[in-house]
Amino acid sequence: MLRVAKFGGSSVASAEQFKKVKNIVNMDKTRKFVVVSAVGKANKEDNKITDLLYLCYAHVKYNMNCEHIFSIIEKKFTDIAQELNLKFDIKGELRKLKEKLDSKKITEEYLVSRGEYLTALLMSEYLGYKFLDAQDLIFYNYDNRFDYEKSEKAFELIEKTGENFVIPGFYGAYPNGEVKLMTRGGGDVSGAIVASLANASVYENWTDVSGVLMADPRIIPNPKPIKVVNYNELRELSYMGASVLHEEAVFPVALKKIPIQIRNTNKPEDFGTIIKNTDDDNSEAFEKNTITGIAGKKDFSIITIRKVHMSNEVGLIKKALTVFEDYNVSIEHIPSGVDSFSVVVESKAVKPFVYELMGKLRKATSADEVTLTNEISLIATVGTGMKNNKGVSGRLLTAIGKSGINIVVISQTSDEINIIVGVHNSDYERTIKTIYYEFNPQ
Ligand code: ASP
Repeated sequence: MLRVAKFGGSSVASAEQFKKVKNIVNMDKTRKFVVVSAVGKANKEDNKITDLLYLCYAHVKYNMNCEHIFSIIEKKFTDIAQELNLKFDIKGELRKLKEKLDSKKITEEYLVSRGEYLTALLMSEYLGYKFLDAQDLIFYNYDNRFDYEKSEKAFELIEKTGENFVIPGFYGAYPNGEVKLMTRGGGDVSGAIVASLANASVYENWTDVSGVLMADPRIIPNPKPIKVVNYNELRELSYMGASVLHEEAVFPVALKKIPIQIRNTNKPEDFGTIIKNTDDDNSEAFEKNTITGIAGKKDFSIITIRKVHMSNEVGLIKKALTVFEDYNVSIEHIPSGVDSFSVVVESKAVKPFVYELMGKLRKATSADEVTLTNEISLIATVGTGMKNNKGVSGRLLTAIGKSGINIVVISQTSDEINIIVGVHNSDYERTIKTIYYEFNPQ
């Protein structure tokens, strides 16, 4: 049994948080590989080291003084080191970094990656784990593709030492050894890569929430956490706005069927959420004839093309879609009827030219009428428990109807893991509440 534990920025935001990490790591000896993000926000007003480093770089680039910002970075790191009595010469390291920055002999990627680098060095001393630089483990090609074979070889040597390691997240190396930074939130991806290289039994992603919640807590007070979600459901929920993990964090572990467990550093007793294999049905939700989660987004537009006897005409939808393609607009859904079909798009994607686009649509399809409805919200109710399971969509639609909410559009794909309803923006919160409480009676 081997676990890879990744701790996000808020889990390493202060000396106090470092202590929590140590307790968690010591609780289970199978947590042999620890991946860390850079020191994050200790409270709402605080700033992430990563953001401060980006800011510093921008200042230097435009010949502005960044002393003040750099001193905040210094203070955050030195406070942690002092409070924990660490011997590592953090002041010296930061001084060297500042000199490089001032002489402009530094790339943005290198500078920003120092957030995780220094955090990992402090954590390695504090845990008594060896430090392993991500530049010596996570390799990329120049076209930004992850080089699995090269990384796997490096990992084999590391594994042979039998030691425990702390690894900085968020970056790796190009073939020439230069730092390659990932996209924001990339520490999740680093953790997933390490879990995959190590063939871990589980990839633990420690954060500041007790797992993925069934609905947005700004709308539903204290929503239930989702205990089990499969990769497909997670993708649907994330796409519709639930922020959980970095999108690319699923692939490395999914390939090896390694489950991800989202856990709360501040409440380690909570189970959190297990994200597991796509092939498995979410049996728990299935048995209970219920849903896994709800997510939604506001501000969509529906463009409806109406033409009598349209259903006999082959190729009409294609003609319409070509117009959207010409304007480079990505389409969300295409619900259709007998004499009409609608195209649902994000409002901001069409706003500057929507009437021009509608004119072109009318011409291209010889439609009787092309209409526009704005201010639509899409709400996705996700769950493999709905598949082949009668009643869930019925319950959902009945509940919405009973609440007096008008559904403008409905879309469900044949894999039945997702029912999407479109309602007016003004009904958004109410619809989410209605669906949530239908399946989680108070
Ligand atoms: N520190 C980086 C960020 O803030 C990466 C991470 O936290 O995963 O985006």
